[in-house]
Amino acid sequence: MSKPDLKTLISELEGKLKKELSSVGNLKDLEELKIKALGKKSELYSILRNIGELPPEERKHAGESVNKLKTILEEEISKVESELKKKAGAEKLSAEAVDITMPGDYIRKGSLHPVAQIMEEIVEIFKPLGYSVVHGPEIEHEFFNFDALNIPGDHPARDMQDTFYLGKDTVLRTHTSPVQARTMMQTKPPVRVLSPGKVYRSDYDVTHTPMFHQIEGLYVDEGIKFSHLKGTLLYFAKRMFGQDTSIRLRPSYFSFTEPSAEVDVTCVACKGKGCRICKGTGWLEILGCGMVNPNVFKQVGYPETMTGFAFGMGLERIAMLKYKINDLRLFFENDVRFLRQFK
Ligand SMILES: [Zn+2]
Repeated sequence: MSKPDLKTLISELEGKLKKELSSVGNLKDLEELKIKALGKKSELYSILRNIGELPPEERKHAGESVNKLKTILEEEISKVESELKKKAGAEKLSAEAVDITMPGDYIRKGSLHPVAQIMEEIVEIFKPLGYSVVHGPEIEHEFFNFDALNIPGDHPARDMQDTFYLGKDTVLRTHTSPVQARTMMQTKPPVRVLSPGKVYRSDYDVTHTPMFHQIEGLYVDEGIKFSHLKGTLLYFAKRMFGQDTSIRLRPSYFSFTEPSAEVDVTCVACKGKGCRICKGTGWLEILGCGMVNPNVFKQVGYPETMTGFAFGMGLERIAMLKYKINDLRLFFENDVRFLRQFK
């Protein structure tokens, strides 16, 4: 079998490469074909390299034929390349297209947590009476949390089972009352303050969480009587739960007040008739209060002529009554379906 002549070789190569070119579908494959057809290792290049072995009279013609094919291939490849580029561009455009007739995404606005809302509401209720807001540290010295509030060393509230101790004499405050002591030590009477904030107790069940919120009020001046306390609390109860609300005071005991009382309001559900929520009594307990114990005044260095009252309540408790929520844990689960209802 004789070796095929150059003309046949070139024409076969042309046919083969054109066929491959016609089936190329993307730019990556085209780049590979370009190297295969025109690169240093291509058949075309090896034909060109062997021209020197031909008889001199055939060399010129052979060189022209190879160059002609090279030009044809370059043109064809560039044509396919520009078509593929156009196609890829169109695909990219259509993939990124924005339909401006579609409605926009609705971004929901956040809102204050119900407990924060109640806190703000209470502060607003007391503002017209001249109360200002003070804050204290959540990591508190045992002295301010207990001693300054007339809670003796052997009191059960100081037990590790109820209190989170951070060190020998540092605790996570168990109430907002230490802010009272701090305020009185820094301020000369008269004092009229509210201290809202987080408090911590080692307790967890359906009605208790290890962290909850309290707000505490303190009014100290000369001549402050129990009747002032009662009037203040009745005003608060009416503003918070409605004008038809009454209050009832029951004697109680707190170390830092004497006398002390627990305060009930007319049941928010039955308005006093008696129902399941108030266990048939018509009353709901909302806070503790009393006249500041003279021992507390002694601890903070106030003169003996001073009198005053203090009251404190759990914000979750007030929010539960106001919004008729029956599970304390809902406040801490951060379920937006629950939170969205308090706008
Ligand atoms: Zn009731």
